Amino acid sequence: MEDELSYTPDCLNAKMPVQCSSCVEKRAMLKRPKTGHSLCKECFFWAFEEEVHQTIVAANLFKPGETVGIAASGGKDSTVLAHVMKLLNERYSYGLELMLLSVDEGITGYRDDSLETVKRNQQQYGLPLKIVSYEELYGWSMDAIVKQVGLKNNCTFCGVFRRQALDRGAVMLKVDKICTGHNADDVAETVLMNVLRGDIARLRRCTAISTNSEGDGVVPRCKPLKYAYEKEIVLYAYFKKLDYFSTECIYSPNAYRGYARTFLKDLESIRSSAIIDIIHSGETLSIREGVKMPVQGTCSKCGYISSQMLCKSCVLLEGLNRGLPKLGIGKHHRLHNKIVNNEPLTEKEESKLKVLDI
Ligand code: SF4
Ligand code: ZN
Repeated sequence: MEDELSYTPDCLNAKMPVQCSSCVEKRAMLKRPKTGHSLCKECFFWAFEEEVHQTIVAANLFKPGETVGIAASGGKDSTVLAHVMKLLNERYSYGLELMLLSVDEGITGYRDDSLETVKRNQQQYGLPLKIVSYEELYGWSMDAIVKQVGLKNNCTFCGVFRRQALDRGAVMLKVDKICTGHNADDVAETVLMNVLRGDIARLRRCTAISTNSEGDGVVPRCKPLKYAYEKEIVLYAYFKKLDYFSTECIYSPNAYRGYARTFLKDLESIRSSAIIDIIHSGETLSIREGVKMPVQGTCSKCGYISSQMLCKSCVLLEGLNRGLPKLGIGKHHRLHNKIVNNEPLTEKEESKLKVLDI
């Protein structure tokens, strides 16, 4: 935890005998990265928790009686999410039944350790826990996938498989909703990445606080920490002495997101509202009429939602099982479908296959 705090030394007012600007009683312990206010620990906790509560109420995220699965990785975001959800559920009588839902990607030396943290959180918060693993769902652990695909596209496999694994776990647990620990920095980063990629469909979706998925068989998801700054999540976990795991994934080459993150941090250091400003820009964007959007259907193989005939997960899995790990990387849907369905390829398609090195 010390390491994580070392990048926000100006947030801690350890040497400054400043009074808390909220209670005007106790000594301020930190300067809020989001507002610049100098606060004591208790007033910071209250402000942070109230903002999450306001986010939940304003977006009408939950209904009394619902069962909610908290996607828990053992990291700071999901640990703070579990802590705050439990606290607010009791403080404001949301009437929710909370559960922890974890995905075991099968990454030795990373996920096995972080899952130990989740198991301790389960005890600390007294919440039921369900762990679903890639190995049991797909027959492949990330360790095995990296052995086959190397360290270039591994996060594509991991991200696609995780999305579906969470849904499958949620169905097993019979939860009404999943909430994830995505914070304001994550959302702003995603907006930037989608702008840079020109991915209009994702750009439109990525700032939504919840997915509305009635009728498509997918469990709705929401992000109660959508407006919480990462720096404040770290401070909250630190001062609350929460038990979380702070090691990076050993297979983390996600260079593109890394650049977007560095860029965002640079912007934030000059102007702290940059994070919220980017989210607001994403929220208020509107798409010109007539722009073609992917139509959501279902995968002809597994029935999961997909805008193509086969979902990404099925194409990637088929590639792994056939020893063609590059199948499914990139957008060559027709080609992927033909290969997966064992349909004969034209000469042009054969040569494309060679160029793509599938
Ligand atoms: Fe998976 Fe990549 Fe994240 Fe590691 S960094 S957990 S491989 S998505
Ligand atoms: Zn599928």
